Amino acid sequence: MAEPRLPRLRGTLRHGEPLARHTSWRVGGPADRYFEPADREDLVAFVRQLPQQEPVLWLGLGSNLLVRDGGFRGTVIALHGALDGLSRDSESTLWAEAGVHCARLAKFAQQQKLAGLGFMAGIPGTVGGALAMNAGAWGGETWRTVLEAEAVFRDGRCAWLGPEQFGVSYRTVLPPRGFLGFVAARLRVAPDDGSHARSTRESLAKRKATQPVGKPSAGSTFRNPPGDHAARLIESCGLKGRRIGGAMVSELHANFILTDGGARAADIENLIQQIRDTVKQNTGIELVPEVKIVGEPGIGNGQSAIGENA
Ligand SMILES: Cc1cc2nc3c(=O)[nH]c(=O)nc-3n(C[C@H](O)[C@H](O)[C@H](O)COP(=O)(O)OP(=O)(O)OC[C@H]3O[C@@H](n4cnc5c(N)ncnc54)[C@H](O)[C@@H]3O)c2cc1C
Repeated sequence: MAEPRLPRLRGTLRHGEPLARHTSWRVGGPADRYFEPADREDLVAFVRQLPQQEPVLWLGLGSNLLVRDGGFRGTVIALHGALDGLSRDSESTLWAEAGVHCARLAKFAQQQKLAGLGFMAGIPGTVGGALAMNAGAWGGETWRTVLEAEAVFRDGRCAWLGPEQFGVSYRTVLPPRGFLGFVAARLRVAPDDGSHARSTRESLAKRKATQPVGKPSAGSTFRNPPGDHAARLIESCGLKGRRIGGAMVSELHANFILTDGGARAADIENLIQQIRDTVKQNTGIELVPEVKIVGEPGIGNGQSAIGENA
């Protein structure tokens, strides 16, 4: 029987794409295949022709991702710059595709005089990344605003799913069986009398004062343990300023690891491990990375893989 004819892909497929170009830490080796879809239909057509066992890594703005120096053996699907549809869906909902930047979404809501998404203003990721991470700030959290999310499954099927279909908790989202990635979301909003816009501006100013914004980092490296703050624990162990190669614990915010031009992913991963060991020894508390760590160690670079958590 003849194979069904696949539609021609309109997006960009590259081989050996260096992922350091696409992560906020500016590190990470090459991806075997790197696909930027032209739009939603193109994405679905691409997913349909992927082999069932193909390892897939979704990429938003790479602001929570540590890709190891050996790169990713499989296919990266990058949505930023694509799937950027954003509109008011109804009086009380916005529709946003997964590639929309969180800051753009927050600004759009503000322009529409709507409250509920101001916490996204300072998160340097995409809607897809925020859905995958249950990103949050200043008391706001992505999934508290989600009415439903559109998912694409391994077989290329798309479906709108309610929050009850996902296991959602602090910076964790467990998807249903067969799920591959997020395509879009409908988010709940409410009328704003101006007070939300004001508090968003205040939160952004606070962020600028307390975080090394603008320097290469992935935001908070570790989750906050129950009832405590990872930054407080790291600082209490005297680790501010600790450096391995091109990776350094920020002097301003101890839960941020900063990189300079010569950094390797191995430097960051080894520093993460050193922080975990020191905090465990001194306080008995096990810090858990919030950043997603993926890919293969570089050859002979001394990287001690601490396990994938993507
Ligand atoms: C300066 C700075 C400040 C930050 N502040 C905050 C903060 O206040 N609060 C907070 O929660 N985070 C914060 N972060 C971390 C990061 O911005 C968030 O986790 C963000 O949601 C990640 O989005 P992204 O598009 O960059 O995702 P990426 O880093 O590209 O990916 C993160 C994870 O999401 C998955 N993913 C991405 N897109 C999709 C998709 N479409 N479908 C399925 N999975 C997907 C990836 O595979 C990966 O596992 C900060 C980071 C930086 C650098």
